[in-house]
Amino acid sequence: MRHNARPQMERTLILCKPDCMEKNLAGEVLGRFQKAGLQLVAAKMLRLTPALLDEHYAPLADKPFFPEIVSFMSSRPVLALILEGDQAVTRVRDLLGPTDSRKAPPGSIRGDLGTSNMLNIAHASDSVENAAIEVKRFFRSDEIPA
Ligand code: ADP
Repeated sequence: MRHNARPQMERTLILCKPDCMEKNLAGEVLGRFQKAGLQLVAAKMLRLTPALLDEHYAPLADKPFFPEIVSFMSSRPVLALILEGDQAVTRVRDLLGPTDSRKAPPGSIRGDLGTSNMLNIAHASDSVENAAIEVKRFFRSDEIPA
C-alpha cells in the first residue's frame, strides 16, 4: 500500500477577476477546475470594495502597482468560488500557472487565457492558512456548507 495514499482534503478561495468576467470566461475557468476533479462548494458574484481589497492585497501595499490593482479589481463584479479536493490549494495554483500570464505555460489557465502580470484571470489562495482566512473574507458562514 502507498504511504501517501490518504487524501488531504482542502478548501481554497478563487476570485474570477474582472478581466475573466469581461471576457466571459468564468465558465471556462470553473470548468477547468471541475474537470480536474475539484468540487464546487460555494459561489457568488460580488463587487469588491477598495477597503476589502486593501485588506486582501495588504502584502503588496508598498508596490508601485498597488493602486492599479485596487482600481482593476473593483472595476466590475467578480465571481468568488470555494473549491474543495485533495490538496486543492496546490492543485488549483498549478492549474492557474504563475502570476505573469506571458510566462505561464500553454495549458495553464493564465497561459491560455491571461494577458499580463495584472490581467491574469483569477486569484487563488497560496496556502492552506491563507485559504481559511480568504474563505472567511469573502463568504459569510451561512453561505458555506459545513
Ligand atoms: P498571485 O496572484 O499569482 O498569487 P501576487 O500575490 O504576487 O500573485 O500578486 C497579486 C496580484 O497582483 C496578481 O495576481 C496580479 O493581478 C497583481 N500583480 C502582481 N505583480 C504585478 C506586477 N508586477 N504588475 C502589475 N500587477 C501585478
